[in-house]
Amino acid sequence: MKPDIHPAYHQASVTCASCHTTFTVGSTSPSLRVDVCSNCHPFYTGKHTIVDTAGQVERFQKRLERAARL
Ligand SMILES: [Zn+2]
Repeated sequence: MKPDIHPAYHQASVTCASCHTTFTVGSTSPSLRVDVCSNCHPFYTGKHTIVDTAGQVERFQKRLERAARL
């Protein structure tokens, strides 16, 4: 490898915001945060769940409720 041009290599600890699982991957960043991982993503679990980390589904349902009342 050519010296002084490569970023530092870390065994980054990855934390999933949805299921709070942690695992490690090789990365140039020392730690990573993901919204969905292979432990909780519907594709891997085979279950139909709504992955919602930012409260978007809740916001949409509130808006639906409000529209229904009018
Ligand atoms: Zn996860």
